[in-house]
Amino acid sequence: MTQGKFRPVLFVVIIWMHAMACLALWYEWNFGFTLSALLWLIGVHTLRSVGISLGNHRLFTHRSFKCHFPTEVLLDFCGAMAAQGSLLKWVLDHDQHHKDTEGLWDPHTPAKFGGVAGFLWAHCVWLFYDVKRPSKDFALISARKNVRIAKWDKWVYPIGLLSGFVIPFYFEGFAGLLLVGFLGVVISWHITWCVNSVCHLFGGADPAFQKTRDQSRNNWPLSLLSYIGEAWHNYHHQKADSAFLGWRWYQPDLGKWILIVGEKAGLFWDINRPPTEAKQKQLVFE
Ligand SMILES: [Zn+2]
Ligand SMILES: [Zn+2]
Repeated sequence: MTQGKFRPVLFVVIIWMHAMACLALWYEWNFGFTLSALLWLIGVHTLRSVGISLGNHRLFTHRSFKCHFPTEVLLDFCGAMAAQGSLLKWVLDHDQHHKDTEGLWDPHTPAKFGGVAGFLWAHCVWLFYDVKRPSKDFALISARKNVRIAKWDKWVYPIGLLSGFVIPFYFEGFAGLLLVGFLGVVISWHITWCVNSVCHLFGGADPAFQKTRDQSRNNWPLSLLSYIGEAWHNYHHQKADSAFLGWRWYQPDLGKWILIVGEKAGLFWDINRPPTEAKQKQLVFE
């Protein structure tokens, strides 16, 4: 078994957050929700998605583009709003997923159990256990990539985490706290979790590209729901250091469009692109 000890505190926190999300729905149903609270939810949800996808994932894990250090701190802050734990552990877990996808060391492969149990494991049950690491060297490599931001993360994380609750409460009162804070975090969790569960079980692959040996899939419906780009997960497993997740122009990938606009404004540079047409064909016929 490559899973570690049960984490009772995290288990209770996740259950409690879901209870608060239900309370938020009850509150909104009984007292009515305002358009402004809904706009807050959409706005903060988008910031959380940008933080997790552009920050934790494309920048801090895969280093698929470059930016100034203050931009790194801002992305770390937005990622902290999503309440997915401190940055370095997120990077370690995700690095491990790529290094041994569907293998023994993959922290959240649905192949571990198969069927409904496999789906639930990949979706969130894996979070209730410590992740065992294959070697210290591996952890060091991940840490070295993020040595500067890791120091800042100690401050950024609690401030960012609280901001996801305090700012909506300040502007929208209890409706903001419940809808944007608690329900918003739970919605954001499930959309992220779906990448690990749904996108390793349901969906397809673009036939113009090389097939991967793992079970990763591109999932159209989820790409509309998550719109940040993470549902193009088969592309991502083909070339993890590509900063663009939707490789075709019409595929929803807000992260890609932010990078393209930000590149023109001088905010981002050295952005890794997906393989070119010629390279794709070469890969297919290899
Ligand atoms: Zn994956
Ligand atoms: Zn990745």
